[in-house]
Amino acid sequence: MANQHAQVQFPPSPQLTAASAILCKLQSIGHTAYFAGGCVRDALLQIPPKDYDIATSATPDIVRKLFPKSRYVGESFGVVLVYQSRIPIEVATFRLEWGYTDGRRPDNVQFTDAEHDAARRDFTINGLFADIPNHELDEHQPLTANVIDFVQGLTDLQSKTIRAIGDPQERFAEDYLRMLRAIRFAARLGFTIASPTANAIRNHAKYLGQISRERIGGELQNMLTGSNPHDAIFLIHQLKLDGPILNNDHQSLLEHDPLPILTHLSNQRLDSEPNIPFAYPTFLAGWLLDRFFHKTSLVPSLPHITTFLCEHFRITGIRKALSLSNETQTILVGILNLLPQLNGWSSFTIAEQKRILASPYFPHTLPLTYAIAPNLAASISTDADNLANDPAGISPTPFLTGEDLITLGLSPSPQFKKILDTAYDLQLDLSHTSRDAALDWLRQNHTPPPPASSD
Ligand code: ATP
Ligand code: MG
Repeated sequence: MANQHAQVQFPPSPQLTAASAILCKLQSIGHTAYFAGGCVRDALLQIPPKDYDIATSATPDIVRKLFPKSRYVGESFGVVLVYQSRIPIEVATFRLEWGYTDGRRPDNVQFTDAEHDAARRDFTINGLFADIPNHELDEHQPLTANVIDFVQGLTDLQSKTIRAIGDPQERFAEDYLRMLRAIRFAARLGFTIASPTANAIRNHAKYLGQISRERIGGELQNMLTGSNPHDAIFLIHQLKLDGPILNNDHQSLLEHDPLPILTHLSNQRLDSEPNIPFAYPTFLAGWLLDRFFHKTSLVPSLPHITTFLCEHFRITGIRKALSLSNETQTILVGILNLLPQLNGWSSFTIAEQKRILASPYFPHTLPLTYAIAPNLAASISTDADNLANDPAGISPTPFLTGEDLITLGLSPSPQFKKILDTAYDLQLDLSHTSRDAALDWLRQNHTPPPPASSD
């Protein structure tokens, strides 16, 4: 029996207008149709839903016919994507799923009623439906709907609990990705995972590798770029999922540690200017450092980090384990190379400092330096501001190019790069303040040998 008394308010938005138009049309031809899952959960928590999913008794064929601007997205699963005012809305037929022999996908799907459809969903807070009254929607007003709760989701929302629907051991054995989803929702919403659900995750953690690395990496990226990355990773450690996620048996040093670097990064992100890229690679690097090093030993061992992570641990292993994009991988390696270099900041020449500041990896790396060695990071920031204000700036256009060397009569050779690098260093540290000065220097120091005489 469903609890029929609670109500929920959906804030006005173009998505809501589009989704309610679809719902009303389905209802008008006699079908049951509800808002389902995440949008009901979020609206009850007063978080504006990012999209609206619809669950209905209408079969996919009926949905396709009723909405000409639509296409199947998972025909065998009964999902149709309907375009309403150009907004894509997923309309899924109530379904039962069973026989997950691969821990990923159901072998069998059968169309059913709302109650059974709620039961195949992952967590009670995700198993709620909302029934909207069938009348004209005022698109500027919130929409009030009745909550339909077959799975005690309202109680768990109130007590801030993530609880698997049904027997948690069975539910995680059906689909191992649900283990990461549980953690993602717990961290994002600040909820606690009910102990039977948490125990079932611990029991199934070692099987995570049976699902695709793209799905694992996708969930991790969601967690690390979400609102509470440190909470997510802390749960991952507690529930023994860190090794399976990274596909690495290296014993975590920090099973009960509050993850100092990640915590620091999360706090910085909260306080920082929006233009600092606290993106996936920075948080990923933060987690790897937290997992493999104690903070106390980190600063002296900074130079060893890159060697350790890039060679012994094999960064390529992380890339495969998380199915990282080329861009994420490049930035991650850039960070891990730059981080130990920053340790020597005060001994660098001005040109060396400017070259570091101009590195595309510097903005991704500085937040980590703040987390590990705050005094060092603060002095780097001060120097960076001063250097940005000197007449040459941090990355001026070079005064000299290869063309100038050729004009002077030099023939292209590997020596070219060295000469141009030296010239650029002199420009960065203000020894050359104009192109003419740079050309004079070039003539004085690199005049080509006179042509060999032919007799
Ligand atoms: P988000 O805000 O992250 O999108 P969501 O709850 O909308 O959260 P989706 O992945 O969009 O999550 O899935 C929509 C709904 O489908 C969920 O609320 C849940 O009811 C159901 N669902 C999604 N993935 C699974 C799964 N692996 N097992 C069971 N049910 C699932
Ligand atoms: Mg969703």
